[in-house]
Amino acid sequence: MLYGALEAGGTKMVVALGDENGKILEQKSIPTVTPAETMPAVFDFFRGKGIKALGIACFGPIDLNRQSSTYGFITTTPKIPWRNYDIVGDARKNLGVPVGFDTDVNGSLLGEAAWGAAKGLTDAVYFTIGTGVGGGVMTNGKMLHGMMHPELGHLLLRIRPDDPFAGLCPNHGTCFEGMACGPAIEARWGAKAVDLKDRPEVWDLEAWYIAQAVWDCMVTLSPQRFILGGGVMHQAQLFPLIRKYVLEFMNGYLDTAEVHDLDHYIVPASLHDDQGIMGCIRLARDFAD
Ligand code: ADP
Ligand code: ZN
Repeated sequence: MLYGALEAGGTKMVVALGDENGKILEQKSIPTVTPAETMPAVFDFFRGKGIKALGIACFGPIDLNRQSSTYGFITTTPKIPWRNYDIVGDARKNLGVPVGFDTDVNGSLLGEAAWGAAKGLTDAVYFTIGTGVGGGVMTNGKMLHGMMHPELGHLLLRIRPDDPFAGLCPNHGTCFEGMACGPAIEARWGAKAVDLKDRPEVWDLEAWYIAQAVWDCMVTLSPQRFILGGGVMHQAQLFPLIRKYVLEFMNGYLDTAEVHDLDHYIVPASLHDDQGIMGCIRLARDFAD
């Protein structure tokens, strides 16, 4: 069985064909410009390939409420040409197959839940720390949508007293994304994140913010594991620092098997940066009739 996968990102669309085991058979990247320029190339990739369904994991905010007249739309994105674009409707019309739809981060979590670090779990949180910061949540075996979908990148965090940075979020300044995304690291320290790898103070501060978000989600969502992905998390030195600060914030409050084994509780994404596109394959499989 063949499934179509579309990981719709703010800078590029990744399109792929996959099988029911999440194996990627063909993959291509198309720049995200405007719906009129970008989407015909996306649909052309899938045409005539006999896909049974399409899974779309999309940058947001998006409308996931099946009762809503704008279900399947990208909604209030700052990327103006994409605002109020009916990506699901357009895909159905062009390809004539069932379309599964979720956030980009829920897509990555779905990939990890099906074939990676969250396999066998019912409750997990996935953070991506890259150009932006986002979080996906699985609760009782299902991706959390609720009112719309979690927006964990906009958690409001305490500011470390020695950090004068004003934050980059246009709405909140110093929220999680505003303080910890890749561009925030670059703006604060004046160099590309990857070129700061030998500056311990950079990763100490970064880990302090990430650990706050982990702690806040531990005590609200009670996940069985945290998976951290995205470009910034390629700095493996962050993991021990995040675990150290999570223990500090916990301050002895919790006593579960998980908190005594944080090496297995706070882990890197495990699918070699294919978690997003593999999640789309899984999403398609779940929506195929
Ligand atoms: P996107 O979020 O746009 O999908 P990424 O997840 O690759 O893409 O995130 C890009 C961000 O991650 C950039 O801000 C970049 O500086 C940062 N980044 C990429 N690779 C690394 C690395 N090896 N170490 C630290 N930061 C990185
Ligand atoms: Zn914000």
